[in-house]
Amino acid sequence: MSAMTTHNPLLDTSDLPLFDRIAPDHVAPAMDVLLAEADAALSSVTAADFPAHWMDIAKVLDIATERLGRAWGAVSHLNSVADTPELRAAYNAALPRVTEFWTRLGSSEALYAKYKAIDPATLNAEQQQARSNALRNFVLGGAELQGEAKTRYAAIQERQAEVSQKFSENTLDATDTWALYVDVAELAGVPQDVVDACCAAADKEGQSGKARLTLKIPTYLPVMQFATSSTLREKLYRAYTTRASDQAEGEAAKYDNTALMKEILALRQEEAKLLGYANFAQVSVVPKMAESPEKVIAFLRDLASKAKPFAQKDLADLREFAQTALGRSGELKAWDIPYLSEKLKEARYSFSEQEVKQYFTAPKVLAGLFQIIETLFEVSIRKDDAPVWHPAVEFYRIERAGQLVGQFYLDPPARAGKRGGAWMDDVRGRWLRPDTGTLQTPVAHLVCNFAEGVNGKPPLLTHDDVITLFHEFGHGLHHMLTQVNERDISGISGVEWDAVELPSQFMENFCWEWPVLRHMTAHVDTGEPLPRELFDKMLAAKNFQSGLQTLRQIEFALFDMRLHAEHDGSRDFLPLMDEVRREVAVIVPPAFNRMAHTFGHIFSGGYAAGYYSYKWAEVLSADAYAAFEETADPQGAPSIETGRRYRKEILEAGGRRPALESFKAFRGREPSLDALLRHQGMA
Ligand code: ZN
Repeated sequence: MSAMTTHNPLLDTSDLPLFDRIAPDHVAPAMDVLLAEADAALSSVTAADFPAHWMDIAKVLDIATERLGRAWGAVSHLNSVADTPELRAAYNAALPRVTEFWTRLGSSEALYAKYKAIDPATLNAEQQQARSNALRNFVLGGAELQGEAKTRYAAIQERQAEVSQKFSENTLDATDTWALYVDVAELAGVPQDVVDACCAAADKEGQSGKARLTLKIPTYLPVMQFATSSTLREKLYRAYTTRASDQAEGEAAKYDNTALMKEILALRQEEAKLLGYANFAQVSVVPKMAESPEKVIAFLRDLASKAKPFAQKDLADLREFAQTALGRSGELKAWDIPYLSEKLKEARYSFSEQEVKQYFTAPKVLAGLFQIIETLFEVSIRKDDAPVWHPAVEFYRIERAGQLVGQFYLDPPARAGKRGGAWMDDVRGRWLRPDTGTLQTPVAHLVCNFAEGVNGKPPLLTHDDVITLFHEFGHGLHHMLTQVNERDISGISGVEWDAVELPSQFMENFCWEWPVLRHMTAHVDTGEPLPRELFDKMLAAKNFQSGLQTLRQIEFALFDMRLHAEHDGSRDFLPLMDEVRREVAVIVPPAFNRMAHTFGHIFSGGYAAGYYSYKWAEVLSADAYAAFEETADPQGAPSIETGRRYRKEILEAGGRRPALESFKAFRGREPSLDALLRHQGMA
């Protein structure tokens, strides 16, 4: 064995990943070993004389695939948060081999037969659920395909993984490549901390005295909201909304995603046909809570019709404000809308996001979040040590009555080489290990892209950032508080995609509760908590433009569903986007806008024909939260008893049973649309 193999940190899966030691050189040799192990395990359990017994299979196969999954998970995680050319090359070189193995495993006729042969009477309830999911996934994974169809199916999976990865790289590169150096004077209106950060960035690049603008959200968004210069906003808007498209200018034109998107759509369509479905949308909803694409489309249209009058009112208000208060006539430009909206919000509610931000320092917010989790779910959270990939990363453990429940990494700041957005990912799941008989506790990644603190001050979060943080922790709690012992249905594993956002969106509600919020604020300079008066204004502004925002989500969701249900993959998809906009949108973006070209959720993120899940689960989460509203004490503090029931029926249950059953066990009835419409001021 070479040194790379004997001392390869990716092969040490005894506990937490050795993030501080993993180097690009380790990837290929580790994958050689782990893929060979997994291959051998698969051959072994599919041999004719191997017993069709759940635990016997798990002891050999699940142990090997878990080791592979954990090592590959660490590599993909680093690829997302600490991208370098070397790591990217190593990741891309290994990706087809890893995908090939998972596809082969998921479509193995012999393994499918082995699982089918297991006597269900020998299984406990959790194992039965895991087995029935497995059988369903085998069918969707092509296990019933024969001969050429089977080979083609595998080739489609491999190619899809490659193309999606390229789509995602183009998006990141198109975002990272773009920079604009401007004089500080051009940034009139932009918050000082953002200006300071842009100046520091320019300084670093040897352009002292200038400000460096990028398309990363912590810069892009405040410029769009606050810069008084419409010309500057137009420049940024154009660059942002044409990223990775045919409309991108100059150097950036090489990142055009158009051909990749068409190929992805055509591949999915072909996959659906091979599996015996009319389109990919039908395949996508099989393991989901929604019964059919038609039901989803009807749900979205129903919600759109309820939201549209509110959206029209939102737009009319904005036009009137532009005219009367600012003396602007004519059509509103797309790059003026965020700016005008911010100004209207200020005028109407007389506060700014900027003012609010001063009270939300990252450490205080985190302490407040931890406090609510500790109180409501009866756990304690404390800092711990683990190998990390960047000095900004923190590591924590969650305990109940002195017993370890789960652990998580928290990586808050935005930086170069880190994918945008926020997400939760699993490092490992809760599992009563078949090899040792010991209980493996779950570990999660919580990744955000917050602005960094400037001038030695702690980072300031917008209220939206706070909501994002709570959202991702909702996923994290679902993953970490589970009490299921079977790996494939513990935590978020095995939970229907369109129900998986229930716990995350549920947590967002707490960001609007005074008893919660007042404990997690301290002004960055004075240390004063958020004044009640300011909170009341925020609350009044909460549903500002909620009609417009709802329609925007529906526009994306309907585009995604129709793209996979009705559209011929080989044709141009832009006309469909236009058609969807004509149907549901009240603001039609400029012709050059190519937001679909960076729509990573559906082209590289697993949300294909599934973006509706956010709205679908929002109905569930709003209705679940209403149970807390109904049982809160007179001061508005949430009921511990309701928290306990929610924890037991929703969080701890994980994928042990269908999401609808868990919901009904908690709520005592079927979900209803009422709470969502009421929460968003559209009742
Ligand atoms: Zn989410």
